[in-house]
Amino acid sequence: MTVAARLAPQPWMTDEESRAVIAALAAGGADARFVGGCVRDAWLGRPVKDVDIASHAPPERVMELLKAAGITAVPTGIDHGTVTAVINRKHFEITTLRRDVETDGRHARVEFTDDWVEDAARRDLTMNALSCTPDGNVYDPFGGLADMAAGRVRFVGEARKRIEEDVLRLLRFFRFHAHYGRGDPDPEALEACEALAPRLPTLSGERVRGELFRLLTAPDPGAVWRLMIGHGVMAHLLPQATGVARLDRLARLAHDLGEAPDPLRRLAAVLEVDRAGALAVAGTLRLSNAERDRLAALIEPPVPVHPLDDRVKRRQALYRLGDAGLYRDLVLMAAVGPAGPVSLGVIRKALATAEDLPSLRLPVAGRDLLALGMDRGPRVGEALKQIEAWWIAEDFRSGRRTAWGSPDP
Ligand code: ATP
Ligand code: MG
Repeated sequence: MTVAARLAPQPWMTDEESRAVIAALAAGGADARFVGGCVRDAWLGRPVKDVDIASHAPPERVMELLKAAGITAVPTGIDHGTVTAVINRKHFEITTLRRDVETDGRHARVEFTDDWVEDAARRDLTMNALSCTPDGNVYDPFGGLADMAAGRVRFVGEARKRIEEDVLRLLRFFRFHAHYGRGDPDPEALEACEALAPRLPTLSGERVRGELFRLLTAPDPGAVWRLMIGHGVMAHLLPQATGVARLDRLARLAHDLGEAPDPLRRLAAVLEVDRAGALAVAGTLRLSNAERDRLAALIEPPVPVHPLDDRVKRRQALYRLGDAGLYRDLVLMAAVGPAGPVSLGVIRKALATAEDLPSLRLPVAGRDLLALGMDRGPRVGEALKQIEAWWIAEDFRSGRRTAWGSPDP
């Protein structure tokens, strides 16, 4: 295979930890290259998340070589050929070159190989099939560089066959299109996705959630979401997720406010469900309890919040929620809801109210009432409730002196 291009040295290629791992493998004569997402993203000048390495050395040998160099080696997926090297708290997945010998739509039985092209051929997309030697020679057996330049997300080989082997690839196709695609998606792939979408329910909720959340963190996922609805994909995943106009507005708003995409908030925006429906989606996607509760609150706010509310009302809602993050969530959701459009200035001001929360603390407590001679019992709680209601209605202005005739501490 000939070198397709040269990648300029990247910090993650030349840092101490990468060099130590590569040197450990090289010391035993093991050939090693960077593979997958790190090469793709480095080529595009995007931030690199995880650094994956492939080698023709079998996993037991990789373990030995790392240990010999004093690097922690964890057999994270030894049957599949994956060992994780841990050095200075950095992790590197080192995977032995493989080819799939048997696939059942979800899992593959693999065999190790020493052929780089075979290993590249089992990867899903041409842009994910790149590899790069430690000194920057990029190998591109399936035209991934040209595809990236054209914004073309394309399967290695026949789309239909590749999705039949592993139906998760159907979702990965849309996810990568949202992040790396430009223009119309590959028609052959789209047709295969449409035909094989009925197999999506065989995937676990965790895997679906992983893909959908990564799709939803694309800068502008609405167009791809529409495509998935239009080609009958969403019908097999989340038939309730049809509120794409709201998703578009939320994405634009995040962009205008300079906020990072928030996948759970975006999911809430796109769902057309009530609270029970939100809980059902949380179950399907195996959300954590905290995520489930947040989704339910986004769908059915426990306290009404709207950016056009006046300051007093906003502060009251914030106090009742008792959670600045949820208050911000609800401002943003309301801003893209049916009561919009709301100007950016108004939204910014409403969001800024969240900073008031620490100052909104009831200045009296039960012990103050006891100190004033009230008897213990349920009346203390009732009196406190009354004082609180009055204090809230007064826009939290009263301190201890006005509230209770005793000086502020
Ligand atoms: P990300 O930046 O989202 O992590 P990535 O390309 O690193 O993107 P991973 O899911 O971490 O994606 O997988 C690493 C590599 O493994 C991919 O680049 C691809 O080559 C290969 N890969 C992952 N999942 C599959 C799959 N289902 N089928 C074929 N190849 C896959
Ligand atoms: Mg990755």
